[in-house]
Amino acid sequence: NQSRQFFVGGNFKMNGSVKSVSDLIKGMNEAKLDGKTEVVVAPPALYLLQASKEVQPPIQISAQNCHTAAYGAFTGEIAPAQLVDAQIPWVIIGHSERRQMFGDTVEFVADKTKAAVEAGLKVILCIGETLEERKGDKTDEVNQRQLQSVVDVLDEKAWSDIVIAYEPVWAIGTGLTATPQQAQEVHASLRKWMAGKVSQEVADKIRIIYGGSVNGKNCRELAKEADIDGFLVGGASIKPEFIDICKAAE
Ligand code: PEP
Repeated sequence: NQSRQFFVGGNFKMNGSVKSVSDLIKGMNEAKLDGKTEVVVAPPALYLLQASKEVQPPIQISAQNCHTAAYGAFTGEIAPAQLVDAQIPWVIIGHSERRQMFGDTVEFVADKTKAAVEAGLKVILCIGETLEERKGDKTDEVNQRQLQSVVDVLDEKAWSDIVIAYEPVWAIGTGLTATPQQAQEVHASLRKWMAGKVSQEVADKIRIIYGGSVNGKNCRELAKEADIDGFLVGGASIKPEFIDICKAAE
């Protein structure tokens, strides 16, 4: 869809080193991306400052997580305001790995999203069903429940700072990509749901990106679908093919 700027995020997860993050950013700078696609990369927290210094426009940097609180006794956590202070513009919230392994409940994800937006960050908000839920015909129900908690705490205007990443858990890191049709079906359904729950304007404008084993080979077919506005890429974001994915909509 031409009215929404294509968006590609790269989630490095807990991978990399001072040198490899530097090398990846250097490779991306050298790719001379034209800025038509919004490109955001998320290295581990330890490397955010370094990446932020090394990266050149139009590429932007994202954190992989943040806390709800503004400051205080939360050992190991990072406050949204600290990311803003460090000039990190984006944060990924609600990634399935955090939901499954680190106790990020739907409410906590909603509160983090609200805190992040209020502090001035833009948010890549991840949602998605497990294989069991899909098999049980619960795909829409699960994704809507995850989004509803966020709808409950945000003002309508806050949605302009949010990108929704639909990431079916069964497709993350498994090599099992959703087909373009499967992804399109969920994206269209989520957009319609947003129109009813928030507003038609937000539904028309919000980017809904797909994540789950996106690679240099499958990205172009996925990018053709009307409601797929980009990707959140894990494994392939630390490989040279990430550049091809950034160019998928060209
Ligand atoms: C992710 O972690 O957001 C993701 C989509 O991972 P992968 O591309 O490796 O499936």
